[in-house]
Amino acid sequence: MCGVFGIINHGEASKLTHLGLHALQHRGQESAGIVTSDGSQLIQHRGMGLVHDVFPEHQLERLRGHIAIGHVRYSTAGPSALKNAQPIAVNYARGCLAVAHNGNLTNAEALRERLEERGSIFQSMSDTEVIVHLIAASRQQTIEDRIADALSQVRGAYSLLFLTEDKLIAVRDPRGIRPLCLGALRGRPDVHAVSSEPSSFDLIDGEFVRDVEPGEMLVFTRNSVKSLHPFASVQHSRCIFEYVYFARPDATLDGISVYEARKNLGRALAQEHPVDADFVIPVPDSGVPATIGYAEAAQLPFEMGLVRSHYVGRTFIEPSQSIRHFGVRLKLSPIAGLLANKRVVVVDDSIVRGTTSRKIVKMLRDAGAKEVHMRISSPPNQWPCYYGINTPTRAELIASSHTTEEINQYITSDTLGYLSLEGMKRAVLDAHQPLAAQPPNGNGRRLPVLNASEGSEFCDACWSGHYPVRFVPHTGQRQMRLLDL
Ligand code: SF4
Repeated sequence: MCGVFGIINHGEASKLTHLGLHALQHRGQESAGIVTSDGSQLIQHRGMGLVHDVFPEHQLERLRGHIAIGHVRYSTAGPSALKNAQPIAVNYARGCLAVAHNGNLTNAEALRERLEERGSIFQSMSDTEVIVHLIAASRQQTIEDRIADALSQVRGAYSLLFLTEDKLIAVRDPRGIRPLCLGALRGRPDVHAVSSEPSSFDLIDGEFVRDVEPGEMLVFTRNSVKSLHPFASVQHSRCIFEYVYFARPDATLDGISVYEARKNLGRALAQEHPVDADFVIPVPDSGVPATIGYAEAAQLPFEMGLVRSHYVGRTFIEPSQSIRHFGVRLKLSPIAGLLANKRVVVVDDSIVRGTTSRKIVKMLRDAGAKEVHMRISSPPNQWPCYYGINTPTRAELIASSHTTEEINQYITSDTLGYLSLEGMKRAVLDAHQPLAAQPPNGNGRRLPVLNASEGSEFCDACWSGHYPVRFVPHTGQRQMRLLDL
């Protein structure tokens, strides 16, 4: 999972990009980077860690220019290392180019082998670098045509931002797998911004204009905006997991409110898996909206039986004398007085390996809960994602080899219920905002309405195994042997 942000026509482009990336931090915490252009040259800074740590004030001052693109990374292709951090910036025969990518290419290894046989030398293990090489090798004349030529050869998911000396270019793949939104500064309609999620626009005092359409290329210069559709149109396959878990609850993506979708998921879960209980609690924070929906539909009280610490860093030193459930206790603590002798429904968005759920159930029982009923606001997660979400292998996903009852026994809950695939799709589609509630896009047009019967508008491969784009599983044999310490 990654996040991208770009802006043009602002004297403090790097500072606004820095803020935009803060709003996308949940999409990637491993590395961050910004590249700016002052009209004649590109300036870049990338680093490992959180946005706040990578960009001290003096670095932002150094990033001069009126155009910028930025990236936060959670590695999905290539290990977590500075050389794989983005944006990637290069010099090539036609000038300078930087690119920031959210998504994953499914034919990157094959393309890379072909390019290497022809003499290309790669600096990183990132699939995004393949796009840069294809652009450099293209025989097309304009940068727009070179990008379109390169992207016509790649398969998979991409929401991309490109930066040249004088242009910002945004492209969303024809299936629209990963989100991408267009915004503008309030009172400055000439200052355009593009972001993985619209929450970035609030932080820069901007406003959401519209979603970038699947297959659309937006080309921004100082004085113009062009919308191109260089690819053949195909069936859309937007990632439905964005609504279940990844995106921020304050986002509206492709006309669907993430918060309302999650509440609907909880409501549907209560209808499919009711249970006699004293109250419902979420696994914070992502399970909260679904729990509100569950409590409402089941007419049960909503309680916060687990409290989450927001100050846990990504790294910590575990005592050498191992403490049981250390990791989970660091993040969550139960409210014992509330739970004692109670029948509790716990709502979470997914079960991956089952180990965390098992620890949570144990924690609740240790705090005195009499019954623990686990409810999951998505179906059993059985298949890995090849389109830009870092999921474990199929063998590590507990639902790929165990029935719901076996998982229930493993996590030691009294009962376990998953939302059905149909229930999930319906709940998300039902959160589509009515047309009147949607802001018009830049051309005064309103967004297209999703047809509720078009379930295949979404990618649901991690539950169904029906992958919308063919992929070649990574062999894992190719490794960077040049270590950069
Ligand atoms: S496989 Fe799952 S996580 Fe990946 S794009 Fe499809 S729905 Fe989203």
